[in-house]
Amino acid sequence: MYKASANKILPTSIIGSLPRPAWYTANLGSQSFLEAMVNSRYREQYEDAVSTFLRMQETAGLDIVTDGDAHYDEQVGGMSWQSYPLTHMEGMSREGQPAVYRVGAAAYERGHILHDFLEARVLPGIVGPVGPGNLQYTAMWKVAQRMTPRPVKFGTILPELLAASVAEDRHYKDPIERTMALSDAINRELNELADAGCPAIQMEEPQIHMVPARGPAFGKLGTKELVDIFNKTVKGLRGKTEVWCHTCWGNPAQQRIFKDVQSYQPTLEALAQVDADAITFETCSSGPGDLKAIGAAITDKKIVIGVIDHHTLQVERPDEVAALIREALTHIPPERLIISSDCGMGREGMSRRHAAYKMVAMVQGTNIVRKELGLPLAECLAADQRYSLTVTKE
Ligand SMILES: [Zn+2]
Repeated sequence: MYKASANKILPTSIIGSLPRPAWYTANLGSQSFLEAMVNSRYREQYEDAVSTFLRMQETAGLDIVTDGDAHYDEQVGGMSWQSYPLTHMEGMSREGQPAVYRVGAAAYERGHILHDFLEARVLPGIVGPVGPGNLQYTAMWKVAQRMTPRPVKFGTILPELLAASVAEDRHYKDPIERTMALSDAINRELNELADAGCPAIQMEEPQIHMVPARGPAFGKLGTKELVDIFNKTVKGLRGKTEVWCHTCWGNPAQQRIFKDVQSYQPTLEALAQVDADAITFETCSSGPGDLKAIGAAITDKKIVIGVIDHHTLQVERPDEVAALIREALTHIPPERLIISSDCGMGREGMSRRHAAYKMVAMVQGTNIVRKELGLPLAECLAADQRYSLTVTKE
């Protein structure tokens, strides 16, 4: 159901992560979040970090905000996206093991920055039946939501990527069975989060759109099977909250994972089948070429377009953002269009100021189009000339 984006035309948001403040030195490790929050220093740093992430988004004027993925530790390439669930779920080993990779489509040789990301895959194995364990997503969402009246969206990685990340499995007979068990565990956690009132839950990176480039997941899960896994993982959620499906073409260390620009077009029919209220597409970094096909294929959900590139430090201009939104509006009605970044900006490499000004440009650009359509404008305090310290406009 529409909740976070209900009754808003052209709402703005980001995908999730934001660059960590330099002073945020506390790390969670394998400790549970609630246990860490007993420590007054951790609690202060965590709450202050969430607070600054929320204020950045509020002063930019975003409608739907995130906690910046503040629970992620400072890991190479943003590995916490994978490692946090694996180090906190039930059924996992205590020690991490380095994974061994064959160099291939998305596995780079030494010398490429993404090889570090492979070397950082020192992740737990599975030793027993998996369960939500100490994921504690509800507690994290509550910490953010009690600091802001704006709807806080909360995101999580999907089970097939977690299943692919474990180096060793001493419990399940194959990766498919492992994926199904992880799907059940995540579903339980997310139902608790939805019951607590979270107004938007984002499922990050179903591997559906990756199939043409990478082949079926584990050599067996094609687009149809991956859609089924997505729908199994979100079972029960849409009756309680707004479900987003996030797709992009890579983000570790703010890098694209493929050498060539990819297209959504071969898998749009499958993506249209996911049980979600909104689907996000990377349409800034990889260009607007898929917009027409996206508009034609996705007809019963909201479409979230990326107008901010998470890979580059060049801040988009508001007129560039507006042009992309206008182009999207020739294929997608305004009632079903949401404006966002292509992916998270906090998986290592971007400064807080770059992320902040990218969000400002996103809101300013969206305001240009809102004005043209006669819609109310978002207040963007960060771009209010009255508060310039040095220049007064004549
Ligand atoms: Zn992404």
